[in-house]
Amino acid sequence: MGRLNKKRSSVRLVPIVIAIVLLCCTVLLLVFGDLGRFALGPCTAGREGAAEGVSGGAKELLETRNFEASPRAIEDLKGGVVDERLVATLQTIANAHRICVDAFKAGHYFLPGVPDGPLIPDGYPDAGLSNTHYYGRAVDIRRVDGKPVRGNGTDPHVLDIGDIISRIPPQERPDQIIGPEDWVKALGGSSEEGWILNEDELEHHKDHIHLGYIKKDGTWNTR
Ligand SMILES: [Zn+2]
Repeated sequence: MGRLNKKRSSVRLVPIVIAIVLLCCTVLLLVFGDLGRFALGPCTAGREGAAEGVSGGAKELLETRNFEASPRAIEDLKGGVVDERLVATLQTIANAHRICVDAFKAGHYFLPGVPDGPLIPDGYPDAGLSNTHYYGRAVDIRRVDGKPVRGNGTDPHVLDIGDIISRIPPQERPDQIIGPEDWVKALGGSSEEGWILNEDELEHHKDHIHLGYIKKDGTWNTR
């Protein structure tokens, strides 16, 4: 009798166990399916009404569906922190590709935990030079058409971003164009055209495309 009861109660447990397993699977799928997204940080797509109180190029960019950004990057755009030339360049890119911008000024760190200042800190290539992020003249793009820049340097979409930048006239084009080494090499741009080619810098840009304007006015580009 006792054994029979035991059997019955374990039979009754079956649907409960199945329910628990299904619930766990759902939770795991949700968590790990989105893990890549979380690891790369959130990207909010531009939309109508996202730029209340903002005018000009920043407004247009914030309302462009293809333009995705982290909350801190959105705040910088809204706050007028970002250089107009950089806004225009991002608009040109976003007209053709979906990009996710991680940082302009806010939340950009050369060294983890050390707040950025006006100069590139010691321990980083080109230490002592002006930090273009600090002046709102630089951007880091982490994703192109939904793919991370890391590991996709020769992806046609990621390469097309480089082609688009190359076609911008020299005095409007960024003069700090850096990205993963295979991306830079495949595009074949020169330093006269704004490409940063030294190995140290490339080493620090395996997972993002950095576009910057070194000077407040004009660029160093001669071609
Ligand atoms: Zn950068």
